[in-house]
Amino acid sequence: MDKRYYLHINGVVQGVGFRPSVFRIAHEHGLVGWVSNGAGGVEIEVQGPISDLDGFVQVLKENPPTLAQIEELECKEIPVIKDSSFRIKVSEDKGEHHPVIGPDAATCAACTKELFDSANRRCGHPFISCVDCGARYTIIEGVPYDREKTSMKVFNQCPACEKEYTSSGDRRFHSQTNCCWDCGPKLELYDNKRRLVKVGDPIEAVREFLAQGKIVAVKGLGGFHLACEATNGEAVSELRRRKGRGNKPFAVMVESIKKTKQICQVNDREAELLEGSASPIVLLRRKTECKVSSEVGPGNNYLGVMLPYTGVHHLIMAESEPMVMTSGNIADEAIIAQNDEAFAKLANVADYFLVHDREIRYRCDDSVAKVLGGEVQLLRRSRGYTPLVIELGRDFPSVLAVGTQMKNTICFLKGNKALLSQHLGDMDNAGAYEFFQETLEHLGELLSFKPVAVAHDMHPGYETSGFAKAMNIPKKIPIQHHEAHVAGCLAQHKALDEEVIGLSFDGTGFGRDGRIWGGEIFVGRVPKLKRAGHFDYVPMPGGEQAIKEPWRMAVSYLKKAFGADYRKLDLPVLEKFRQQLPAIDKLIERKINSPLTSSCGRLFDAVSALIGLCDLNTFEGEAAITLEMVISESKAKPYQYGLRQNEQGCYLVDFIPAIKAIVADLSEGLAAGIISGKFHQTIVELCVDIVNRLSGETGIKKVVVTGGVFQSNFLHTKLKRLLVQNGFEVYANTITPPNDGGMSLGQAVMAGMILQGKK
Ligand code: ZN
Ligand code: ZN
Ligand code: FE
Repeated sequence: MDKRYYLHINGVVQGVGFRPSVFRIAHEHGLVGWVSNGAGGVEIEVQGPISDLDGFVQVLKENPPTLAQIEELECKEIPVIKDSSFRIKVSEDKGEHHPVIGPDAATCAACTKELFDSANRRCGHPFISCVDCGARYTIIEGVPYDREKTSMKVFNQCPACEKEYTSSGDRRFHSQTNCCWDCGPKLELYDNKRRLVKVGDPIEAVREFLAQGKIVAVKGLGGFHLACEATNGEAVSELRRRKGRGNKPFAVMVESIKKTKQICQVNDREAELLEGSASPIVLLRRKTECKVSSEVGPGNNYLGVMLPYTGVHHLIMAESEPMVMTSGNIADEAIIAQNDEAFAKLANVADYFLVHDREIRYRCDDSVAKVLGGEVQLLRRSRGYTPLVIELGRDFPSVLAVGTQMKNTICFLKGNKALLSQHLGDMDNAGAYEFFQETLEHLGELLSFKPVAVAHDMHPGYETSGFAKAMNIPKKIPIQHHEAHVAGCLAQHKALDEEVIGLSFDGTGFGRDGRIWGGEIFVGRVPKLKRAGHFDYVPMPGGEQAIKEPWRMAVSYLKKAFGADYRKLDLPVLEKFRQQLPAIDKLIERKINSPLTSSCGRLFDAVSALIGLCDLNTFEGEAAITLEMVISESKAKPYQYGLRQNEQGCYLVDFIPAIKAIVADLSEGLAAGIISGKFHQTIVELCVDIVNRLSGETGIKKVVVTGGVFQSNFLHTKLKRLLVQNGFEVYANTITPPNDGGMSLGQAVMAGMILQGKK
């Protein structure tokens, strides 16, 4: 007696070779029926003897395709019908959904092998791919994922490719990016005046140019890279100069894991991350014998490394030196993905352009990650991760969150899932803001997203806040920045209903009292978090200018610590800016353009400038990173700090005792590395102290550690270890960034909970 099953499968099941696998497994079990990409996942009907049906379901569950992630598998019996074969049905689109398309995946091992196999018909083919690898999100125009809805649609498969595509046993069966030398996209090489460079093999020419120290713009998966040889200091400095980029480190691409181990320390977890299909940039500790030029990341002990993730990369990198591969853009603009735009904007940056004729539909920067205490921490969640959804373990209304100002992302929240956009950049940049609007529209369309509310940052002046307010969505919900950091971290741990103590430390965020927050301690349950403590307010002389110029914060703290006498101190930072001190004094004393801040980031800036490490930030966090890089004494004794409670019982943290002690240490000639160690240890100590006090008062034993400050390896690992030793359960960001890149998720879930009346 035959039976018939209907299966509905949710998760990452489109664009990952799911239907072909189903087809093959059904055939192996001698079943009839069909499989189809539905808008909400994959649908299957199978018919046959019960034992074969159950065998089929079991194999599907236990051996899904490499890139697939089954989140839900619903199976029910339906009436038997007349059926004689198993088919892959044309996809149907059925309205609102989270797309279940996969992210872009790095060239798999099987394809890489073929790429370098002279006997293979795809040997050296830059666009080699299969059901397990290749472009996905960046080429998609609509869902369900089919070739006609990708930018592959203009490339008609040749008979040989067509045969693979239609053969159920082939690893390119129903591979939507399938192509070859005869039918795929083509590479072309141009000079910076857009004149075609006629060469037999464009890749070979690019390899030669790079070896000569030239800068080449290379069209990749999610946009252009600017490439040059990373061991060539002159080329790297030249790229830095042409790109208008301060000291911000560049990422490098290294041929293999083996070669990476020659220049950096790589543990197993890091190797796994590097070689995984998401293929992010991984921050690794440089070895002393590292031959990559220090120009790649001046003063930085870490190197951002990624492995080749497309055929083009593999061919360029084969037996080559490590290459800088940085986003193709000028300064902080959004990454460039279109050929015309690249030629127009990068003509003065790149010497040559390696382009191709496949359109990039969605720009997507490289992701950035690191491993801390054995755990992955994403610092930028983008290519390879977007559009994977984040499971939240509870239901929400449909909410759009437009994010904040820096390192922005957008969040689409619906049901029990959140989808975070790729990295969009800093919204005060016109190009990045355009990218934000474009992504909002594209993803909104792809998802047929109809939110009931839009969440935005409380800051009235942010571009995204203004944008949200002008949207045709009935409810607008402003969310406080640091509360959203806490909520976002809890959301990724499916722990939103927990009562917690939240440490939310970063550079800048608009506070509920109109001041600039950034050293915030909360107690309670989302969305009703109480501000239970914060760093004492200090003026930021010059406002925004004080963020760019850490020496201003050093002056602000010194003035608070020593009063008018501070100018008599014998400190290099005061000597250097002597002429500007009267003006700074005036700003602070007359309260002109000197907003008060409780920012942790500004405190790090002040200390970094005070001990003579960094008085100008050429990129966000530079002063703090420099300060961490010099730590030479990791078990240093912490400095004193003050802790008092105001009338509301809110703890105020006073760092003036620490500032005074640092000045004393400086006058005794103590090394910067030791002072920095003592200062970092102070922050750790303070956090544990305040958490212990708040836990004593409330009985809460769960702690959230979030915000950009906790990208610091030292703070993150030391604090986490100590809190765990003190019996606390610690939530820290892993699959969402602790910096503002994870903010939109926090905004969305907070707004969702407010809508649900969880006040
Ligand atoms: Zn492959
Ligand atoms: Zn072909
Ligand atoms: Fe923040």
